[in-house]
Amino acid sequence: MLIRASIGTLAAVGIANVKVLAEPGVAYLLQYSEEGCLAECHFCSQSSKSRASKDLLSRVVWPVVELENVAPKLAEKFERTCVQSVIKPHFVEELHQIVKTLSHYGLKISLSTTPIPSSDLRTFKSEGVDFLGVGLDAATPEVARKVGKPYPYEAYLDFVEKAVEVFGRGRVVVHLVVGLGESIRDAVETIAKIHALGARVSLFAFTPVGGTPMERWPRPPLRYYRVLQIANYLLSNGAPTESIVDIDRVCVRSSVGEGLEVLRTLSMALLTSGCPSCNRPYYTESPRGELYNYPLAAQLPPVEELLRELSCDIS
Ligand code: SF4
Repeated sequence: MLIRASIGTLAAVGIANVKVLAEPGVAYLLQYSEEGCLAECHFCSQSSKSRASKDLLSRVVWPVVELENVAPKLAEKFERTCVQSVIKPHFVEELHQIVKTLSHYGLKISLSTTPIPSSDLRTFKSEGVDFLGVGLDAATPEVARKVGKPYPYEAYLDFVEKAVEVFGRGRVVVHLVVGLGESIRDAVETIAKIHALGARVSLFAFTPVGGTPMERWPRPPLRYYRVLQIANYLLSNGAPTESIVDIDRVCVRSSVGEGLEVLRTLSMALLTSGCPSCNRPYYTESPRGELYNYPLAAQLPPVEELLRELSCDIS
């Protein structure tokens, strides 16, 4: 069966001969469809609305490989694999085949999908999926409509709730793309709502890809993204978010000296958020520029520097 794998994943197992600056923490796979995805998300290169090469997802190249050839090699190198789905005829049936093949080689599996029936979720769990990704993408129903998401917003939130019932609290990871036209308050409220449902949030910075309808849409400002990363980190640690972050002024009020233990580890908020070991190296930015998501802890700035940069006192 044909499948796509990120170029970094293929380099890590010796199939692609490219130099990578950070190895992927999990093996990234993408369901193959010659025509791409039947959905019409305006920001996505896989969408049927896009003229971009179907070899791309965000700014990463995903060559086509044979699943049966690549699966044993992935299992030698990685503990976990992430399978991202596209919408096409019989895509759920194909996903079951993919999951069973990867499971056979002992890989742990994160499956990322649009809303599907709960009965399928239970079957995926029995086949070896232990974390579920959900492509909510938009922070509000209005943004979802504007960017062409394929299902009503409520259908995604219902799906998150059902997925938490099947996989358990903390095992459902909701993908949220910020910089699509939402307000920062809308984004924080949606992150809080997702945590309240028992799921986690994996943040993505909008990345314009040539050939998509949003190719000229700007990237979110880095400060906006940092404050959302910090809000997500604080919410996932049950910390008093609004007393630390001034959402409307897009800045951080606190300094390390204030005795809150979570502040000492705040740089961790800049790491790629998601399933265990997921680091998506340079998925939304060039390694040569400022990083939205840091793939490696060794790259993180000291917390004092981060708090100084984002301080409300100098904003
Ligand atoms: S958080 Fe990472 S590993 Fe999990 S589903 Fe999303 S991309 Fe895949």
